[in-house]
Amino acid sequence: MLDTSVSVSQTSCCIVGGGPAGAMLGLLLARQNIPVMLLESHMDFDRDFRGDTVFPSVLDVVYELGLIEKLMKIPHTKISKLSMQTPKGVISLADYSRLRVRFPHATILPQPNFISMLIEEAKQYPHFQVLMGAQVDGLLLENGKVCGVRYRGQSGRGEIQAQLVVGADGRFSRVRKMAGLEPQFAEPTMDILWTRLSRKPSDPELATVIQSDKGILSVSPRPDIWQLGYPIPKGSYARVHERGLEALRRSIASIEPLFEERVNEIKDWKQVSVFSIQTYCLKRWYAPGVLLIGDSAHAMSPIAGAGINLAVQDAVTASNILGDKLKAKDVQLADMEQIQRARMLSVKLIQNHQQKLQKRLVKPLEKEGTPLSLPLMMRVFFSIPFLRDIPMRVLLFGLRPVHIKA
Ligand SMILES: Cc1cc2nc3c(=O)[nH]c(=O)nc-3n(C[C@H](O)[C@H](O)[C@H](O)COP(=O)(O)OP(=O)(O)OC[C@H]3O[C@@H](n4cnc5c(N)ncnc54)[C@H](O)[C@@H]3O)c2cc1C
Repeated sequence: MLDTSVSVSQTSCCIVGGGPAGAMLGLLLARQNIPVMLLESHMDFDRDFRGDTVFPSVLDVVYELGLIEKLMKIPHTKISKLSMQTPKGVISLADYSRLRVRFPHATILPQPNFISMLIEEAKQYPHFQVLMGAQVDGLLLENGKVCGVRYRGQSGRGEIQAQLVVGADGRFSRVRKMAGLEPQFAEPTMDILWTRLSRKPSDPELATVIQSDKGILSVSPRPDIWQLGYPIPKGSYARVHERGLEALRRSIASIEPLFEERVNEIKDWKQVSVFSIQTYCLKRWYAPGVLLIGDSAHAMSPIAGAGINLAVQDAVTASNILGDKLKAKDVQLADMEQIQRARMLSVKLIQNHQQKLQKRLVKPLEKEGTPLSLPLMMRVFFSIPFLRDIPMRVLLFGLRPVHIKA
């Protein structure tokens, strides 16, 4: 006979999604002795390449949590400069070492290790529960207000009744859709092909972005690999694929000669993944009983690697504002509006900057041989360290740095 029983549980805050936003919020609320249930659709946190750049602002948060030594044990690389190499010379885009902060560098580490560290820490608190392999597919409603979720888990169907549901379920957020909060997408300009090549201890430092008359490459050092991003005009993957793997290998080698031999490590298209860049920021991040944070509220372009950082900053802001409210069972729409207000401008400023850069980058990609043109104003701007520091600060810390309140 078909088992139609549904397991029903109760909690204060039900978080959907165990990415950086959900895992951080889960830990921060659990530390305040607030009952939390986190549902993650996958059985583990091991994914293919995702954003893995952790900015100084997030390192500060990890320090405040007392976890910085644990984090530094994860194999990582540190970067303190962003630069762009063009046929006319190298342009310095940012120099983190100029910042008078606790961690004047970004850290590149595997996202699954970062999330596992947060979840393991959260499990130390008796009010924290995590359900792996639990796919949320419905919202519970009472008088038009969300009061929980329905999910399909490892041992059947379940329901969780909660004072607040937080959708931290990423760019294809189901919670967002079910809550009727539809995103408006920014004009799409490009996609990125990700691939990786081996890195030797004797390799020189490379610019973060390398532009030649053959194309553009973003280069990011991991302990033993180079993570490469190869931007292409939006929707042109089929054309790139048709030209063949050898053409892609040759193109990468012609942009950066260090990879001349190593491109042969790319033997199959399976080693190349396409990331379709879609950016949006919701007009409203909440509805009665439900709040969205991280990518579900605002998907970013991978340019400058801000995704994890904004997700974590959202989580800290949400925890600071909601902690006492959840304890008092008194979460109001105004509290969620306050979270959105605290975060929205930083998100919009960064998206705006990314969109402008993307438009510049895509021109030489559409027509090979077209030089990447940075307007005079921009070149002057980047040549003056004091001015260059302004967008760097906004990117790394937002308009106001976030710190853990409780
Ligand atoms: C392929 C790829 C490459 C990227 N590259 C970069 C980069 O180079 N630089 C950068 O800054 N950012 C990059 N990003 C984005 C970056 O990873 C995100 O900004 C960041 O992870 C956002 O965190 P999040 O917690 O909001 O969402 P996510 O990390 O997307 O986490 C959402 C979680 O929710 C879970 N979930 C989804 N639906 C459900 C459901 N119905 N029920 C239960 N669980 C659910 C998912 O399994 C996932 O674990 C990339 C993302 C992807 C996918």
